[in-house]
Amino acid sequence: MRVNDLLDLLLPRYCLVCGKAVFEKYERFWCITCNADMPLFVFSIGLMSPIVKTFWGRCEVKYGGSFLLYESGSLYSNILKEIKYRDRPDLGVYMGRLYGHRLVKYHPRELAKIDLILPVPMTKKKRKSRGYNQAECIAKGLELATGISVETSILKRIKDRDSQTRKSKFERWLNAKSVYECGELPSGVKHIAIIDDVVTTGATVEACIEAVQKVNRVTVSVFSLGFTST
Ligand SMILES: [Zn+2]
Repeated sequence: MRVNDLLDLLLPRYCLVCGKAVFEKYERFWCITCNADMPLFVFSIGLMSPIVKTFWGRCEVKYGGSFLLYESGSLYSNILKEIKYRDRPDLGVYMGRLYGHRLVKYHPRELAKIDLILPVPMTKKKRKSRGYNQAECIAKGLELATGISVETSILKRIKDRDSQTRKSKFERWLNAKSVYECGELPSGVKHIAIIDDVVTTGATVEACIEAVQKVNRVTVSVFSLGFTST
């Protein structure tokens, strides 16, 4: 019996998507069936991409893509929940790498224009309590696959969402505008990519873009692991 077979018996692994036990060594995080059915985002990352469309009329986004495109409630969202809530920064880096390799293969020309990757930040307090920022892990994976550097100290989150629960809708909207703060980007940076784990309404990313554009004149693209059509 191989060591891996023995480990599988002692510590069974389960597919993060459907929950069935997985045995093969190539079934690292999910089973072969779920791998084959993975709802990969197969659109262009240009003007007509669903992600770019999300920002139409709100802010200018040059390229926008996502690794997975799924309906809300899809079992594939388990992968993202695992990264976000179950202490799996390694899975975030792994998924970021998978996505990065895909981008290099299918969109090399667009990718070559991007100078810097900025993950959607968390407040210092939240990062400390979670131990990591999932968007940063995904960004790290993208960096490993694409060679584009990640920068985590220029774009900051200075307020938590908790601090606005008692506010009116208008106050919350005003408050959301000041949740992120951005410093000056290094000279020569003309095009940045904002990275988030999931894009749904795009409100978080939009607030980040506004913070970046307030002090910098740059082209912005957006990439995420998941895109949920609402
Ligand atoms: Zn499965």
